[in-house]
Amino acid sequence: MSDQALPPVAVPPCGIIGILGGGQLGRMLALAAAEMGLNCHIYCPDPKSPAFDVVSRSTCADYDDETALAAFSRDVDAVTFEFENVPPDTVDFLSSQLPVRPGGKALRITQDRLKEKRFIESLGRSCAPFMAVDSLDDLIRGVKRLSYPAILKTRRFGYDGKGQVMLHEGDDPALAFAAIGEAPAIVEGFVPFAKEISALVARGRDGRIALYDIAENHHENHILRVSRVPAAIEPSTREAALEIARHAVERLDYVGVLAIEFFVLEEEAKERLVINEFAPRVHNSGHWTQDGCAVSQFAQHIRAVAGWPLARPVRLADVEMTNLIGDEVNGWRTLALEPAAVVHFYAKAESREGRKMGHINRLTTLSRSRR
Ligand code: AMP
Repeated sequence: MSDQALPPVAVPPCGIIGILGGGQLGRMLALAAAEMGLNCHIYCPDPKSPAFDVVSRSTCADYDDETALAAFSRDVDAVTFEFENVPPDTVDFLSSQLPVRPGGKALRITQDRLKEKRFIESLGRSCAPFMAVDSLDDLIRGVKRLSYPAILKTRRFGYDGKGQVMLHEGDDPALAFAAIGEAPAIVEGFVPFAKEISALVARGRDGRIALYDIAENHHENHILRVSRVPAAIEPSTREAALEIARHAVERLDYVGVLAIEFFVLEEEAKERLVINEFAPRVHNSGHWTQDGCAVSQFAQHIRAVAGWPLARPVRLADVEMTNLIGDEVNGWRTLALEPAAVVHFYAKAESREGRKMGHINRLTTLSRSRR
């Protein structure tokens, strides 16, 4: 039975939400679901996944294991995913049995940078100038047209700067193409942005939309370091980002939380938005909502997936969220002492360089302008 054919009933308390993926996002989704009286079943091939520790139902199997997927689908009432690289065939298989939200359409577009760019263009919105790269010749033509610096990005499986190479004048394109394993890619023009921001939007089963306040993001070594709300942007930029978020979820017929990352350009003292990418899931830049908002992105996503009405995402404080990366987690004693801060650790057994181990939400009073 397709999702469309299902009656619009909600998963009641004591129901079970299946989550594909067992990282920290799955863990925090399961914790939020538990507060709503819903249980989660985590499905993930990695036995060391941190989400397994917080649920009583779990499957450790590959995403193409149809026997395990069939058993999983019999145990749950609705399914979601916590990362965008879930194989679309897995989602199609599960969708034939029960609702999978946000579903295959959003997944197929957002897990492929080329499809995503074309989707952005179809919305009539701006993205970085780009060209598809299937061969070294394409790359050479691409950088000629876009000029330097340019960024070569694999179409799939890129995150935190992985699968990306920056090309400067004089660099050998053949080396850059080899560095990404000659995988299907795009080449993008460099965007001289002044700021990076992200929008977080939820759309319910009934089509209602909830928009969170915009976060301003700072990256280090391609990894998100700090997100701040409110973002220091013009009110018109904020409105434009929210409008794009609303437009995108409507066009995708989306159910769940979606994040959109933007570059903010400053041109002749005016801000202009360029969309960088979409994440069809809860997002690191939305972690501030756990402690600074009436409804966290995790609870909101579970509400949408379970077919519950969405809650109003009223911001309650100004928040600075800082990721704890690698060995920084060892400073947990000092962090735990901080007043007006809430620490979240993911209980990952090993800390590795560049690995997200936790985050801290530092709260201050709601700024006057946004009260
Ligand atoms: P991505 O994985 O595409 O989100 O890229 C990670 C980070 O690299 C972004 O958050 C930016 O800081 C930077 N970046 C990616 N693409 C571009 C671009 N076209 N121009 C400038 N910076 C970029």
